[in-house]
Amino acid sequence: MKRYSAFALVREALNGHKGWERAWRNAQPKAHYDAIIIGAGGHGLATAYYLGKNFGITNVAILEKGWLGGGNTGRNTTIIRSNYLQDPSAAIYEKSRALYETLSQELNYNIMFSPRGVMMLAQTEHEVRGYRRTAHANALQGVSTEFISPRRVKELVPIIELNGPRYPVLGALWQDRAGTARHDAVAWGYARACSDMGMDIIQKCEVTGITREGGRVTGVQTTKGDIACDRLGIVVAGHSGVLAEMAGFRLPVESVALQALVSEPIKPCMDVVVMANTVHGYMSQSDKGEMVIGGGADGFNNYTQRGSFHHIEETVRALVETFPMISRLKMLRQWGGIVDMTGDRSPILSKTPIEGVFINCGWGTGGFKAIPGSGWGFAELMAKGTSPLTDPFSLNRFGEGRFIDESVAAGVAH
Ligand SMILES: Cc1cc2nc3c(=O)[nH]c(=O)nc-3n(C[C@H](O)[C@H](O)[C@H](O)COP(=O)(O)OP(=O)(O)OC[C@H]3O[C@@H](n4cnc5c(N)ncnc54)[C@H](O)[C@@H]3O)c2cc1C
Repeated sequence: MKRYSAFALVREALNGHKGWERAWRNAQPKAHYDAIIIGAGGHGLATAYYLGKNFGITNVAILEKGWLGGGNTGRNTTIIRSNYLQDPSAAIYEKSRALYETLSQELNYNIMFSPRGVMMLAQTEHEVRGYRRTAHANALQGVSTEFISPRRVKELVPIIELNGPRYPVLGALWQDRAGTARHDAVAWGYARACSDMGMDIIQKCEVTGITREGGRVTGVQTTKGDIACDRLGIVVAGHSGVLAEMAGFRLPVESVALQALVSEPIKPCMDVVVMANTVHGYMSQSDKGEMVIGGGADGFNNYTQRGSFHHIEETVRALVETFPMISRLKMLRQWGGIVDMTGDRSPILSKTPIEGVFINCGWGTGGFKAIPGSGWGFAELMAKGTSPLTDPFSLNRFGEGRFIDESVAAGVAH
């Protein structure tokens, strides 16, 4: 594919923008692939990309029932950070954050990575202790974070109210190379690179069955016909339980809707991401000027991809104590995505009881930040059967009681 560059922009501007190629081919399925990935979200596309780039496996199809990036990848609030408590989490999230730093150059696609800094407010004594502990753990893991004072919080976020009526700000866990990226661009950038390697991205192709023979996968049934494969990666977030059932095994995940909303655009007023986990809300400002606001997950299992009124009310009521200025903002739109939650709030990247079938799920409310690292590790797992990044996240940890408890780092916010 032709490279994107400043010169290409000038050339196309002079030619009336008639020479741009399609970013990826709209492929039709072949009879057989070395590997099939179900789900063209960020994790599925990144897996395919690293299968090709790191292991030379390019006879790959990525099957998507809707449109590429239309699942949680295109619905999240784009927070990227790696300040997790447990070592296996820090390893995969920091690998991911580090890959994000140079992803635009690597993919030749501007994913608008903005390492503007993420702060997690401590608004109870318990949180102060918890975040100090995380900062110490991060220091040992080589992840750069620090616990900062309320004064420093105010310097970084002038619009914040430190002495709110219920929960004063007592400090914050601060990661200065954390930030945001443009979510669709992450999916589009990986898709373009996969297509360039000759992989087939097949949209509007729902997988309806998984065929097996003697305990081994042989292929998939889809709305575009049967397709054979040697290896199968299931990367479908909120639908993981549905696909696992098709393959004949069960998963310890629950699917719930997680919601977010944005305000009308306003002048620049906050250039970091702030998360307030005690009151259940977090906020950043988009390049367009909208305040991007995320709330909690629904308290019951469901498959709805839409917002609900009580969430707007709860989230805005909670945040208004800490950011009184948002009381005067009009909210523009809200939406939801189906997230897949595990009991220990850590993902599952694993072989399954069916030989040749691998599963990547359980990222819950916080998997956008993990897309490059997850794709890197899961591709290695699919290619070699083992990966230092993903081995701790195998399915059998639930049978062995070897949980990776991230409920503090990932319980509410992202
Ligand atoms: C409101 C909200 C806010 C969030 N905020 C953040 C955040 O700030 N930071 C962060 O790190 N994470 C955040 N997340 C979580 C993050 O979005 C997800 O963890 C991540 O996007 C999951 O990516 P994925 O590729 O696994 O799934 P998805 O992007 O959902 O992709 C899975 C794809 O599989 C497809 N599929 C399903 N079933 C089938 C089938 N049978 N056949 C074919 N295709 C199928 C779906 O259509 C979908 O496109 C948020 C999520 C939501 C909903």
